[in-house]
Amino acid sequence: MPDARLPLFREAPQDVLRRVWGYPAFRGQQADIVEHVCAGGDALVLMPTGAGKSLCYQIPALVRHGVTIVVSPLIALMRDQVDALRQLGVRAAYLNSTLEWRETQEIERACEQGELDLLYVAPERLVTPRFLDLLERSRIALFALDEAHCVSQWGHDFRPEYLQLSILHERFPIVPRIALTATADAQTRADIVNRLNLHGAKLFLSSFDRPNLTYRILSKDAERRQLLDFIRRDHAEDAGIVYCMSRAKVDAIADWLRQQGLDALPYHAGLDSQVRQANQDRFIKAEGVVMVATVAFGMGIDKPNVRFVVHMDPPRSLEAYYQETGRAGRDGLPAEVLMLYGFGDVVQLRQMVEQSDSPANYKRTERQKLEALLGFCETVRCRRQTLLSYFGEDYPKPCGNCDTCANPVETYDGTIPAQKALSAVYRTGQRFGVGHLIDVLRGLATEKVTERGHDKLKTFGCGKDLSKQEWQTVFRQLVAYGFLAADPEGHGGLILTDQAPALLKGQESVRLRKDPAAERKSARGSSRSGYGGGGAVRPRTAPIDLSKEDDELWHALKALRLDLAREQGVPPYVIFHDATLMEMVREKPHDAVALGLLPGVGAKKLERYGDYFLDVILQHT
Ligand code: ADP
Ligand code: ZN
Repeated sequence: MPDARLPLFREAPQDVLRRVWGYPAFRGQQADIVEHVCAGGDALVLMPTGAGKSLCYQIPALVRHGVTIVVSPLIALMRDQVDALRQLGVRAAYLNSTLEWRETQEIERACEQGELDLLYVAPERLVTPRFLDLLERSRIALFALDEAHCVSQWGHDFRPEYLQLSILHERFPIVPRIALTATADAQTRADIVNRLNLHGAKLFLSSFDRPNLTYRILSKDAERRQLLDFIRRDHAEDAGIVYCMSRAKVDAIADWLRQQGLDALPYHAGLDSQVRQANQDRFIKAEGVVMVATVAFGMGIDKPNVRFVVHMDPPRSLEAYYQETGRAGRDGLPAEVLMLYGFGDVVQLRQMVEQSDSPANYKRTERQKLEALLGFCETVRCRRQTLLSYFGEDYPKPCGNCDTCANPVETYDGTIPAQKALSAVYRTGQRFGVGHLIDVLRGLATEKVTERGHDKLKTFGCGKDLSKQEWQTVFRQLVAYGFLAADPEGHGGLILTDQAPALLKGQESVRLRKDPAAERKSARGSSRSGYGGGGAVRPRTAPIDLSKEDDELWHALKALRLDLAREQGVPPYVIFHDATLMEMVREKPHDAVALGLLPGVGAKKLERYGDYFLDVILQHT
């Protein structure tokens, strides 16, 4: 029962934000959400990764009386969040299968006695009679349903246990509920409202833009070298994720990166679960590990300072792309995402859809998703605009922070080269792969060409004006736009589609993109990087460019943080985030008062770690 003698709130939200987290102000809609929930309203919060969803329930947890119950689907996530909260001096705990009986009992006791601010639980535990009884005996401030898209079957990580969470509303009708997710599509949203019975909840929908991510897609030519250049030049000491389509490729790329001297680890479902766990743990707790992985990796990875995500092969859809790239830069500092994309990928993606056994209506959706993905890869528009418009969001101006903005792509009337390419396919009998077709077009009398008499064809040598690579680009786009397809019998040959004749006869024209050469301006605006070309560029080791002295301080602060984290067995970022260390480098505070003013330095952390960090700063100034 609410106690009439208690003041309404324990502390004002703004004061909690300053005192505990050390942040000067709320971001975006946080203030409105917090106010609404503190006042007892239900809320559905749709915000992209990294926008700060956690504070939307963690602050009310410290403002309202009682314990906030957080439903979270993954043990690793719970542990991370609780570690981070305890560092802030918040009374937080989790209940899950990894705990011993005695620990469980102790936490239950603390919950009942009002000694906890936040209690994290998995959905399957929440609905047990034992736990519901505990809730009856405790004073509950709020229910927070994290990763609420897990309730939807449409989503990528459906968790049937989430369906039972509507019980909370029935058993505890006066306790407010806040559901949060980074998945915004309309179908999933409707599912969340219906299945969690959130019809009365206020909807808080944020923009899904991730302004600190730099988007880039490179035409794949020598993928390993492209990857290595990208990491060496711009991300020498950074943590990152490299996604590959297959397990075999994950193993091969991880091995190869290690041979090149990088701290790379593999992760895929074929690895022993202990190895997988150990690799994930290292990625989280060490600094600068590159995780080479299939898409099995990433769900529940909360590491805020993932500085890059590379797709060695295109993702399955734009939804998947948004989600996978979204794991970079949660901390809001600049991060880069790179996709390598080539002729073979387009052929393979198209083949996968055409040959899938899915029912017709499903196949239609698959095809539409593929068109959207290919359209994104081939676009000459701003990537961010293209991506957000796919999700129904209007981004008014080109972003200036993607490859097509940094290096505008030239297009040209490609009708003639396209006709030459299609005619080469036709005249050679629609049986040959792109390598042979390009030889024919460029007039190379290889053995294969002469043996088949292809040097006698009208198209032989009619395409000498373009290089091999330029032809590859033409063929890739012709497959992407659906003028050519892979031979359904396999064999790697290309065939004409029903769209081809109109183009061949000149009834239709086509504009093609000229892929920018490997040399490039950095999308970040500095001229630091340009893969492929030589140039003595200092590899960047901090999220932003630093002077030599500042770079040394940055490294010293990181080393100290790692030591402190190791002592306690927690990830370094729960001590201080990179953004806070960057502030220390920038401001170089000389006393506790100045240090305490930096964003991310709350009262508890100042008390605990202030002297260590001040020492290092003083040594370097
Ligand atoms: P999400 O759960 O939405 O992915 P998080 O809650 O993990 O995002 O927050 C992302 C990062 O932003 C965290 O490092 C968090 O501490 C930081 N953050 C959130 N809100 C603020 C704020 N008002 N001021 C400064 N930093 C914030
Ligand atoms: Zn752009």
